[in-house]
Amino acid sequence: MYDRFDRNINYLRISVTDRCNLRCTYCMPEEGIPLLRHADILTFDEICNFTKVAVDNGITKVRLTGGEPLVRKGITALVRMISDITGITDLSMTTNGVLLKQFASELKSSGLHRVNISLDTVNPEKFAEITRNGNIVDVFEGIEAAKAEGLIPVKINCVIKESKEETEARGVTKFCMDNGLEVRYIRQMDLVRGHFSTVVGGAGGDCSLCNRLRLTSNGKLKPCLFNNIEFDIRKLGYEEAIRMAVELKPECGSVNDTGTFYNIGG
Ligand code: SAM
Repeated sequence: MYDRFDRNINYLRISVTDRCNLRCTYCMPEEGIPLLRHADILTFDEICNFTKVAVDNGITKVRLTGGEPLVRKGITALVRMISDITGITDLSMTTNGVLLKQFASELKSSGLHRVNISLDTVNPEKFAEITRNGNIVDVFEGIEAAKAEGLIPVKINCVIKESKEETEARGVTKFCMDNGLEVRYIRQMDLVRGHFSTVVGGAGGDCSLCNRLRLTSNGKLKPCLFNNIEFDIRKLGYEEAIRMAVELKPECGSVNDTGTFYNIGG
């Protein structure tokens, strides 16, 4: 699918839940969030049927995200359903890694190709501070499990304030070099103020190259992370929502004051 600016839209990110087992300071309020109603969350069949239509229209890359995708009940069954769709050449997941040790083997056998794991520091105290009480050992074990199961390349998402030379980021860089991991540095963004920039080591943030559509856990298809526009796949129907999202995908991001990372998935 080509949009008005000749970008080939072939990448779909699916947020499978708004829930998360961490409370990263830059992402979620400490007290949590008003959770979506169960009936508003897309079912596995809806996600899968939508993805089939998206693939029929040219999507080849799919990433599952959240919230935390591994807290969605039955996530490996969903992975299996999506991996059975012919035409997906890259099926990945972004996770905080906390539950990955438990799920890595089943994710692999269900057809997941690879994972991105979020890690902003390798210092246990700092980690607990940033995530508001996460245990970094869980993430280290998750990373090992992902490697052992061949969910590779394992990529690390490291949120930075300004530069990858900050103390925490340098620690992550060394950890990745020592452990054969790829790292991408994501400058902390502010959707509401429209503060975003390119991802160092990744493809995100460069509007001229953006090939993405994002599906929220409650069925809104967003052509741009940094824009309020969204198309309700339940109301419009899958084909029409995709057609409109591609047709109206903005040339460049601006501000998004209706959405949040934990619902859209980053
Ligand atoms: N729970 C999963 C995780 O932690 O990777 C997936 C969802 S999380 C919203 C996806 C990515 O968005 C993570 O790498 C996270 O660090 C990033 N993220 C969240 N809030 C952000 C912000 N304000 N600026 C930049 N990245 C952010």
